[in-house]
Amino acid sequence: RPALTQFGEQMSHLTGVRAIMKDIIETLRTAQGREFINLSAGNPVILPEVEQLWRDCTIELLDSPEYGEVVCRYGSSQGYQPLIEAVIADYNQRYGLNLGDRNILITPGSQSLYFLAANALGGYTTDGRLKQIVLPLSPDYTGYGGVTLIPEALRAYRPRLEIDAAAHRFKYRPNFDQLEINATTGFVLFSRPCNPTGNVLTDDEVRKIAAMAEPYDVPVFVDSAYAPPFPCLNFTEMTPIFGPNIVHCTSLSKAGLPGERVGIAIGDERVIQHLEAFLTNLCLHSPRYGQAIASRAIRSGRLAAISEQVIRPHYQQKFAALEATLDEAMPTNLPWFLHRGEGAIFAWLWLKDLPMSDWEFYQQLKQAGVIVVPGSPFFPGLQEDWTHTQECFRISLTASESELAEAMRRLAQVADRVYAQS
Ligand code: PLP
Repeated sequence: RPALTQFGEQMSHLTGVRAIMKDIIETLRTAQGREFINLSAGNPVILPEVEQLWRDCTIELLDSPEYGEVVCRYGSSQGYQPLIEAVIADYNQRYGLNLGDRNILITPGSQSLYFLAANALGGYTTDGRLKQIVLPLSPDYTGYGGVTLIPEALRAYRPRLEIDAAAHRFKYRPNFDQLEINATTGFVLFSRPCNPTGNVLTDDEVRKIAAMAEPYDVPVFVDSAYAPPFPCLNFTEMTPIFGPNIVHCTSLSKAGLPGERVGIAIGDERVIQHLEAFLTNLCLHSPRYGQAIASRAIRSGRLAAISEQVIRPHYQQKFAALEATLDEAMPTNLPWFLHRGEGAIFAWLWLKDLPMSDWEFYQQLKQAGVIVVPGSPFFPGLQEDWTHTQECFRISLTASESELAEAMRRLAQVADRVYAQS
């Protein structure tokens, strides 16, 4: 194989969950007739109403004179103008903002947006200082583990746990006694709602983080891949927060368009400009077909309406089914805690004092025909030892309600057995 550079080595490593996915694919491939309930998927469900919306927008595009302009020509790095205009009009009207043209950047998926930010704003400055990428609350999106070329730049903070022992529920809170944002911070990043936990930082918590960052001119990137107005995957009240140093980042992936790779950054024009230049060097501009159909779906209000009326209830019902089954099936004497289901498309289960690692429990569950994702890869950038990181599991809400219920009953049996054996 060719000799790789430091960056080549770094980018050849697939982070956390990708390694587990390999094991899951192998398990399914060699299943030999065994049936598994697979609760590992991060791919959203194809909901008929959502697919229909994208079909309709495609037909409109095909029938319009715009088609050639969209696919047969290069465009601007910033993004396809009708999409930029649709986003500005929608957000200004909805949230009373005053966004202009220079506040928006369209990226090929939001993962790439975090890659641009991570390497433009995190890492070593020209005079050799390390600028950190601060994740204020760990666990968070596992993909953040792969975005920086300078791994030592990633710094995550252990949260505070709010536990309701009687109800077997818990919730992570940012630990403001520990969190440091200062001149060594390049930028701050978190998902809201959060993949994997379903946590939603409160409006006040977001404002507090932004206020801590503002004196140092530190941008705060709020990964809103699950937030309103689309895909609207919040089950609790939340308001998108905007501010001079907040970069609101969203994605159309959970609104039915993951294959088209559309990410949207909304923020201060100086930050947007740097990201845009980086994007030009990387790939010239984002593909335009997805942007063109998205501009129609957003402009007409159909995307926001379907998000609220179809996408959100779909996952919220799944969470309710999972929660009800766990409450019924899990032995009450075990220290199990489900994270409050405030949004996104996953449930996050904590088995406190689990007498084995998350990886071993995952193997035991596979024996019972259930696949979930062990939690340890969801703590990118957390440098301290914390047993909690090996006691959690991510459960995808993309399976059917009956599959979820059956899987949770089996999980309860396995949990009962492994705690009893210890
Ligand atoms: N951020 C979060 C929290 C996610 O869950 C995902 C995908 O699952 C992404 C970002 C990346 O999404 P995309 O690149 O498809 O916009």
